Amino acid sequence: MDFSTSKALHKEALDHIVGGVNSPSRAYKGVGGGTPVYMDQAKGAYFWDVDGNKYIDYLGAYGPIITGHAHPHIAEAITHAASNGVLYGTPTNLENKFAKMLKAAIPSLEKVRFVNSGTEAVMTTVRVARAYTGRNKIIKFSGSYHGHFDSVLVEAGSGPATLGTPDSAGIPQSVAEDVITVPFNDLDTFQQAMERWGDQVAAVLVEPIVGNFGIVEPHDGFLQSVKDVSHDAGALVIYDEVITAFRFTYGSTQQIYDIEPDMTAMGKIIGGGLPIGAYGGQQDIMEQVAPLGPAYQAGTMAGNPASMAAGIACLEVLQEDGVYDKLDRLGERLENGILAKASELSVPISVNRVCGALTVYFGGDTVENYEQAEASDGESFARFFWLMLEQGINLAPAKFEAWFLTTEHTESDIDKTIEAAGRAFAAMA
Ligand code: PMP
Repeated sequence: MDFSTSKALHKEALDHIVGGVNSPSRAYKGVGGGTPVYMDQAKGAYFWDVDGNKYIDYLGAYGPIITGHAHPHIAEAITHAASNGVLYGTPTNLENKFAKMLKAAIPSLEKVRFVNSGTEAVMTTVRVARAYTGRNKIIKFSGSYHGHFDSVLVEAGSGPATLGTPDSAGIPQSVAEDVITVPFNDLDTFQQAMERWGDQVAAVLVEPIVGNFGIVEPHDGFLQSVKDVSHDAGALVIYDEVITAFRFTYGSTQQIYDIEPDMTAMGKIIGGGLPIGAYGGQQDIMEQVAPLGPAYQAGTMAGNPASMAAGIACLEVLQEDGVYDKLDRLGERLENGILAKASELSVPISVNRVCGALTVYFGGDTVENYEQAEASDGESFARFFWLMLEQGINLAPAKFEAWFLTTEHTESDIDKTIEAAGRAFAAMA
């Protein structure tokens, strides 16, 4: 494949945009660096790059794209918004309509607020939890990503349940000291942390199905125990459903496990591809938020008509019959096909999958927490990534990311992908 125009554009970008990209993972650091492909057009399950190469896309823009690129119903909603005025700075009926749709789909949302990104949504839930409880500490699970605000760019210290250390320059140690990080799926360590700090903990922040060290499901009973232990200590439970809301079912993982958190943060899919975030929860907790309460949160772009219209249109598509069955069927076909090719060619891999989202880990070991995901073979993944790209299969450029299917992928796309994976494995074996 010829990538010469991408290379020229990246050279130019490096002169003007820091690191050449507007979000670090786009620089392909997770696969050893190199020139990112500059995409030019996207439709359905496909991308075309600036050199005219075509790809089957599994990046899904890191999660938001579930109905395929440029879905006609969403495109029409955005076009209408564009010609009707994209930003008013006043309330609109679209906000009511969309809030009602979210509440109907996710019953724990007694009240919601729209923001502009997943980061903003999670950040505000943490502030509101602190306001509501009068406590400062939060507990999070290692390897989960909750956006780029200070409190969540904190990793575990040296012990398995220790106060955090900053994971980025520019974050005061004093902020990190209010964050405790424990391993996912490790109830004992979580309980130890709660025994030690529980009366200072405002909230426990959890991706109920992890999307950020690959797709990782909670052990049976883990989420219920986390909720029970948290509530016993007077701490709130916040679900970060930025990836998971509307990804596996029409609604959130709360319905899958039948557990209601106190607050939920969302983003990605609910914007239909436009910038969005939303958070919500129990009424008395949400009443902490301005203008009703003392916890401040605002936004010039929040609830803008274009994002609302795109989000409503996206959920309308997702309400159609059979959407999640189709995603599950395609996901199963892809999982089985890739596992079969890997086994034929003796390449050790394991696959974690929920519905139309999956992660292929190299090394072959089961992955149930961040440590195990980190121990998977990144060099082999990087080889695989480039071998797939050369064959027109666009994956997320990091071993920890999920492959996201869309309603527009076909069985033939999946079979082509499996064949490509077979050729990649053969080259690697
Ligand atoms: N939470 C989770 C679980 C995420 O995966 C992400 C983004 N990948 C965020 C929060 C932050 O969302 P955004 O990039 O829209 O700020």
